[in-house]
Amino acid sequence: MTESIGIFGGTFDPIHYGHLRPALDVADQLGLDRIHLIPSARPPHRSEPQATPEQRLTMLQLAVKNSPKFVVDDRELQREGNSYTIDTLQSLREEYPDSPLYLMLGTDAFSYIQTWHRWDELLDLAHIVVMRRPDETLEMSESLEKWYQQHLAVSGNVYRQTGIIWPVNVTQLAISATDIRHKFSQQMNPQFLLPDAVIQLVGMLGLYKK
Ligand code: ATP
Repeated sequence: MTESIGIFGGTFDPIHYGHLRPALDVADQLGLDRIHLIPSARPPHRSEPQATPEQRLTMLQLAVKNSPKFVVDDRELQREGNSYTIDTLQSLREEYPDSPLYLMLGTDAFSYIQTWHRWDELLDLAHIVVMRRPDETLEMSESLEKWYQQHLAVSGNVYRQTGIIWPVNVTQLAISATDIRHKFSQQMNPQFLLPDAVIQLVGMLGLYKK
């Protein structure tokens, strides 16, 4: 039986409910069987994470230990060189040749997707889900808007494995890892922004003090 697989990448420095709840919203709305959470090793578009790859991986494992829909997937940490999404999709496609794959992106990531390595090949390997927060308008350049409209989901193309852009409304949670790291560094209480088990681990390891 082929399974529908969501793919959610990020630095996850640390993982928080602003990642997890929207991902689950997408799984429910598109009927996904699993969501692979894929921490990136060397993000090409941003500065180095504060936690090590192993620490980010452990935080992810703790965060989803009671949520069987989520799979922690360390394939980008195992690879040499930059973390390019196209390579990750290629490796998932080889592993799951017949599964619909759904690359899940926040609107911020989607708005600069045209700067990504081999961005115009992404839809050959997977669908793209744009996670929209309610009342949010998507900021797009003219060429991105054209690409978006060309591939936008319409009824009747539900059974394809790749090639469709799915906008999905998700729960609005104004939570960011930046704010959480700031709270830790200021000895403020980050509870209810991220799982307790992750907070405990951060405390034990003394992460985000600076
Ligand atoms: P930082 O504050 O360090 O930039 P972050 O909280 O944005 O981190 P990332 O790991 O960079 O987390 O995010 C991974 C993905 O999750 C991105 O596609 C981003 O758009 C999305 N995302 C992050 N926070 C939220 C949120 N609160 N609601 C919806 N999507 C989110």
